[in-house]
Amino acid sequence: MLRYQTVPVTAFAQNCSIVWCDETQDAAVIDPGGELDVLLAEVQRLGLHLKAIWQTHAHIDHAGGTAELARRFDLPIIGPHPGDQFWITGLPQQGAMFGFPPAEAFTPTRWLADGDTVQIGHSTLNVRHCPGHTPGHVVFHSPEAKRAFVGDVLFAGSIGRTDFPQGNHQQLLDSIRERLWPMGDETVFIPGHGPESTFGDERRSNPYVRDRA
Ligand SMILES: [Zn+2]
Ligand SMILES: [Zn+2]
Repeated sequence: MLRYQTVPVTAFAQNCSIVWCDETQDAAVIDPGGELDVLLAEVQRLGLHLKAIWQTHAHIDHAGGTAELARRFDLPIIGPHPGDQFWITGLPQQGAMFGFPPAEAFTPTRWLADGDTVQIGHSTLNVRHCPGHTPGHVVFHSPEAKRAFVGDVLFAGSIGRTDFPQGNHQQLLDSIRERLWPMGDETVFIPGHGPESTFGDERRSNPYVRDRA
């Protein structure tokens, strides 16, 4: 079974999730935005074997620690979708733009596309491409655990910003309705910032994407 522990990192309190298979203890880190020492202490406390980095998108609060973490442990970087190449290339400048220390660009070991799967231990997660917040944003869904790691696509009571270059509000709404809702009302999602919620709760009460009466 897939398990996970979320660790808020960076000044933006970005929800970095450590996910692992509880049979093998193999783990992946989703969106290591920074504070690598905090993340690594948690990995060690949980007794996990770090195997991969999974990337939802390449904003600095999600990707600021990716290059360094990959290099230190020789980990593959899986994701995001190639639409985020310009955000990856611009990581050093994003540091200045958002008041972060400069971050390094990286080259993903494997780009992701809609319909792909990623594996950790005996657990398989489905990849959905959800553009709108960034053009290359992906989410990771475990049907078995009924969990989805959605980055900055959807939040409890809100949705991702679309005022960045190549952001697109309508595309984000379509991503949420067409690619997240089919995962099921009972699915719990872990957003990039703030508390968890379920898709069913958001369909009822999120003012941006609730179902029309
Ligand atoms: Zn973002
Ligand atoms: Zn974010």
